[in-house]
Amino acid sequence: MTTQSKSLRLADQLANNPYCWPGGYPLFAITSDGAALCKCCAKTEREAIATTTGTDGWCITAIDTNWEDPSLFCDHCNARIESAYAEPPDPALVLMDSNGIYIPQLWCSHLDEAEALKLNLNWWDVQQCQAGPDGEHYWFAWTQILDQASWTDANDVTWHLHQDGDLWEVAEHYQWPEQ
Ligand SMILES: [Zn+2]
Repeated sequence: MTTQSKSLRLADQLANNPYCWPGGYPLFAITSDGAALCKCCAKTEREAIATTTGTDGWCITAIDTNWEDPSLFCDHCNARIESAYAEPPDPALVLMDSNGIYIPQLWCSHLDEAEALKLNLNWWDVQQCQAGPDGEHYWFAWTQILDQASWTDANDVTWHLHQDGDLWEVAEHYQWPEQ
C-alpha cells in the first residue's frame, strides 16, 4: 500500500467512524510530523491527505484514541479534540439573569466563613455581597468573587463561576460552543 493510499484510508476511517468501537472513545489522526488532526479535517482536507508527499504535514500515519488529554487541539483547525475520560461536564446554571442586581447577594446568602474559605474566597467579599446591592463595595466584592471562586468536586473536577447575565458554574477546560 502506498503512503498516499494509507493516509487516505486512515482519513476516511476517522471521518466515517470518529469513535472507536466498542467503547465509543474519541479518535483523532496523527500525521508523520507528529501533529494531530480532528475528524472534521480528515474529511475537509481529504484531497491534501490523498495527495500527500509524505513530508508535507498531510501524511496520516495512525489513528489514536484521546484517552484523557482535555487540551488536545487539532493542529489544522484548532478545534478541541474530545477525550474519553477528561471531558469537562456541562456548565450548571445557578441563577438566571432575571435575578438582576441580586445575583451576588443570592449566591452568597447561604455561605458561612468556613464555606467561603473552601471556595477560596475572601470572607470580607462574601459579607459585602450578603449585605445587598446598596453596599458601597457590593460590585467590587462580586468581581473578586467571580475571579477567585474555585472548588474541586468529588470527581476531581475543578469548577469556577462565570457570569454572562446568567450565573453559571463551569468546569475547568470547558469550552463554550461558538455563538
Ligand atoms: Zn481540525
